[in-house]
Amino acid sequence: MHEEPEALRQLRTRLGEVWDIRRAAAVLEWDQLTNMPPGGAAARAEQLATLQKTAHTWFTSDEMGQLLETCRGLVAGWDYESDAASLVRVITRDYNKARKIPPALVAELARVSALAYEAWVRARANADFPLFQPHLERIVDLNIQIAEALGYQDRIYDALLDQYEPDMKTAQVAALFDALKADLVPLVRQIAEKGRAVDAAVLSRPLSVDGQWEFGVMVLRDIGFDFERGRQDRSVHPFTTAFSVNDVRLTTRLDPNYFPQALFGTIHEGGHGLYEQGVAPELERTGLDDGASLGIHESQSRLWENLVGRSRPFWQHYLPRMQQTFPGQLDDVDVETIYRAVNRVQPSFIRVEADEVTYNLHIMLRFELENDMLEGKVHLSDLPAAWNAKMRDYLGVVPTDDAVGVLQDVHWSGGMLGYFPTYALGNLYSAQIMDQVRQDIPDLADRLARGEFGVLLGWLREKIHRHGRKYTPTELMQRVTGRELSAASYLAYIHTKFGEIYGF
Ligand code: ZN
Repeated sequence: MHEEPEALRQLRTRLGEVWDIRRAAAVLEWDQLTNMPPGGAAARAEQLATLQKTAHTWFTSDEMGQLLETCRGLVAGWDYESDAASLVRVITRDYNKARKIPPALVAELARVSALAYEAWVRARANADFPLFQPHLERIVDLNIQIAEALGYQDRIYDALLDQYEPDMKTAQVAALFDALKADLVPLVRQIAEKGRAVDAAVLSRPLSVDGQWEFGVMVLRDIGFDFERGRQDRSVHPFTTAFSVNDVRLTTRLDPNYFPQALFGTIHEGGHGLYEQGVAPELERTGLDDGASLGIHESQSRLWENLVGRSRPFWQHYLPRMQQTFPGQLDDVDVETIYRAVNRVQPSFIRVEADEVTYNLHIMLRFELENDMLEGKVHLSDLPAAWNAKMRDYLGVVPTDDAVGVLQDVHWSGGMLGYFPTYALGNLYSAQIMDQVRQDIPDLADRLARGEFGVLLGWLREKIHRHGRKYTPTELMQRVTGRELSAASYLAYIHTKFGEIYGF
């Protein structure tokens, strides 16, 4: 054990203050999306802008830079994995990035995004891309400026991707996606043409929203979400946020005529929440108390939602419980029927409704178009046509209008380019992690079928959750699975599972 030197103690104090401000902003954002009356919007925007500006100013101060420099000297030679060495290493990376982007550029992107969001809402409602196009042009231009400020070696996309997935390179993502595409595009076609039909009618049986809420909360408790250190509320779009490792907030939405909406949304956000609750308490208020990256965070939500929630053992355990929660309404349903229904593959226009087989294809087309926009390879007036052409090539369906095509996602209007790949990376990480889990816990399926989720959560806590942001995604995957990320686990999983369901 090292005696904590004064500079390190000061660094922790300053970082703690920055994080208090950021967590306070998160409380206001959570409130905005769950409880705030519409009249509060203008004041809330000012409050959030003030808090974010304050946090940014404090974090990028010269004093912070000097403290970090002193601390780098102190921890040189300390164990790479120690809390202190990790803190100085990771926060230095954050600091250098934050210092590179001129505050005026950040403010301009925030201003442009606020207007772009309003325009996007109207454009989507009217399926009118030209209404949104000038805003998107500004956003692409500002993102190019941000990328230039951050710097990159190979592709301009590298700089933007790095904000969400540290150290991941565009070429690496492109290679992973090429492997997926070569395999999944023919598979989707095969399922559409030759697969035996899957009846998903059971998913549309009307079930009371109170019953759905109760059932979802039971599942959250069972998988290990701690309601003494978190809660669930309702919102229009489900999300997870954390104010502390001891105060993690989930939201869900309920549809009386389509229960998977709430159930899988709840399990998905629950997966994010378990990660947040599992971060080591020693990392609280340091900036390391978060997920390793957006992709790794998504791997945890996807693992619980799909690899657990859409597995046969899960339904062996939960179908009888669901039948108890909704007396008389599901008595004629058996495990195979519901297992097949929740795994139906159907190429569709909308990413967020996509199944496990088609989901990544939605991400690939966005990744390719984002690169083309940033590198000037597509005129924005041609973007809807480019989108539709890729939908036809990859999924065999063409959106009926731009509302269900190029305008469907909020991300670009929020100023975010480089974010989408993290969703697909999450799927790949989750499958590779699960392969390792199955090696380490050979009777996992039996345990899940008995409703014993603690052994899986314990494994994830030990290997992933407790480390917070200490390791980059690459480091973490190497430590946890012994190899770098590849598409192999994911593709093997997809072929085994859906080959059986669709009879290949
Ligand atoms: Zn998620």
